[in-house]
Amino acid sequence: MKRRTFCQSSLAAAVAVTSPIGRVLAAGGKIAAFIPEIQAVSRTGGEVVLTEAEVREFGESLYGQLLMPGNDGYDQARIIWNGMFDQRPALIAHCAGVTDVMNAVDFSRTHDLLIAVRGGGHSISGKSSCNGGIMIDLSPMQGVRVDPLTRTARVQAGVLLNKLDHEAQRFGLAVTTGTTSHTGLAGLTLGGGLGRLGRVFGLTCDNLLSADIVTADGQYRHLSADENTDLFWGIRGGGGNFGIVTSFEYQLHPFGPDFLGGALIYPISQMKDVLNFYSEFSLTAPDELNVGAVTTIPPNGKGMIIIGILYAGDDAEGARVIRPWQEFGKPVIDTIGKENYEHVQRANDGTLPFGRNYYMKAGFMRKVDPDFIDFMDGGFELNPSRSYVAVLSQLGGAISQVGESDTAFAHRDAEYDFVTGCSWVDREHSDENVAYMRNLWKQIQPFTKGFYINNAHEESTDRIRQTFRGNYDRLLALKNEYDPANLFHRNPNIQPSV
Ligand SMILES: Cc1cc2nc3c(=O)[nH]c(=O)nc-3n(C[C@H](O)[C@H](O)[C@H](O)COP(=O)(O)OP(=O)(O)OC[C@H]3O[C@@H](n4cnc5c(N)ncnc54)[C@H](O)[C@@H]3O)c2cc1C
Repeated sequence: MKRRTFCQSSLAAAVAVTSPIGRVLAAGGKIAAFIPEIQAVSRTGGEVVLTEAEVREFGESLYGQLLMPGNDGYDQARIIWNGMFDQRPALIAHCAGVTDVMNAVDFSRTHDLLIAVRGGGHSISGKSSCNGGIMIDLSPMQGVRVDPLTRTARVQAGVLLNKLDHEAQRFGLAVTTGTTSHTGLAGLTLGGGLGRLGRVFGLTCDNLLSADIVTADGQYRHLSADENTDLFWGIRGGGGNFGIVTSFEYQLHPFGPDFLGGALIYPISQMKDVLNFYSEFSLTAPDELNVGAVTTIPPNGKGMIIIGILYAGDDAEGARVIRPWQEFGKPVIDTIGKENYEHVQRANDGTLPFGRNYYMKAGFMRKVDPDFIDFMDGGFELNPSRSYVAVLSQLGGAISQVGESDTAFAHRDAEYDFVTGCSWVDREHSDENVAYMRNLWKQIQPFTKGFYINNAHEESTDRIRQTFRGNYDRLLALKNEYDPANLFHRNPNIQPSV
């Protein structure tokens, strides 16, 4: 390995000439032609030059494929959910299991490569890919094993929410996961994990019984309440700061396949009344009830507000609890009745597809302020290039019954999570739309207190430190111990101080 100052044009040129290696490696064959060195980007943004022999040896150490620009499958593998981030890693290591992850971490550390870790690829801030570094891609790791007797599930790091839901629902079991089913479980769990079942079963990370991790030194460690308890604490809300988690063991709970709930859909003209009612109603809602308010505004302004309801308890009691919503306002659609959980979990998938351009902002709230509702009612300027979404979800219940320092996720007192953003098709509108949302958020942020690290698009180091609240010093000590060189920094980063 040699180092030089990084230069974009030399990387592009090198990438073009070195692509045949990857093609041969991907096919598991020998290198037939002379291949010059490969230029990549280092952890700190400099240039790393990898020799053909180094890359070949690495490729041969993997059970999964090693891809480079020009290889079949490379362009597909580099795509992540947020199309705003059109990034080209120098190497994509498809990891088939723990050994591949250990080898990828060792290779990346030895050559001081910029690392991006990809689980489900849903990173709002595009951190699961990178330009010129290595993407350690866990998506081939698809194992899910549900044990109906112990009501537990062991899940590998590439699994999406829909696969766990599917396997667990067969046995009438579930754990809190998110509300868009093509999200990755790994990234979601490491940040906390908010979802429809949170008020009854807690955050996804509250249901974590154990996990396996490969830390920056390439070591494999098992984490649980009895083993490596410090790291086990840190990965429950601290994001991907401490290593690459290869599998997760969850506690499942009896739930589904059917439940009482559904959607009430109102025209956007009723937004203010609906949000006022939402705010008032949620103050006395039992933990079994989850109500989310999703506002969508397309470029023509003909938007709607969707109230999604799930009652995780006795149907007769649920019907009584939900009735005030059915008697309120004039919904154009009312689907309240028996719903299938898997069906509802997948219902949003089409509205937030892979590959569009998105810019999102988020914050926790203690209450739904009347001034916030006033702002929402008319705050979004119509523009032909963009569509808006705004999601208000209720937290509390089981989430708030865990202590603020019991896990790294500190916002146990948050009553609501608010996420808003816009999406657009052509990248030429990116600058204009990002600037608009940043400005809009300046007006919304005062209604929020801290933010969910998984919903962060771009946040300063200070804001990240603040959102970890009293847990930050303990997280910093963990970072200093397990990743002092900050190998894993494409995340809501805790910057080591050693
Ligand atoms: C459409 C959409 C809907 C969402 N809905 C919800 C929701 O309902 N509830 C909720 O809680 N969140 C939600 N989120 C946020 C979501 O939790 C984060 O985007 C999360 O990071 C996604 O995980 P992933 O594995 O798909 O991410 P990736 O993009 O693959 O990874 C994101 C980051 O997580 C880290 N990471 C991923 N896998 C690992 C691993 N195995 N080991 C170590 N670090 C890892 C890395 O730092 C990586 O940069 C949503 C996001 C989107 C885009």
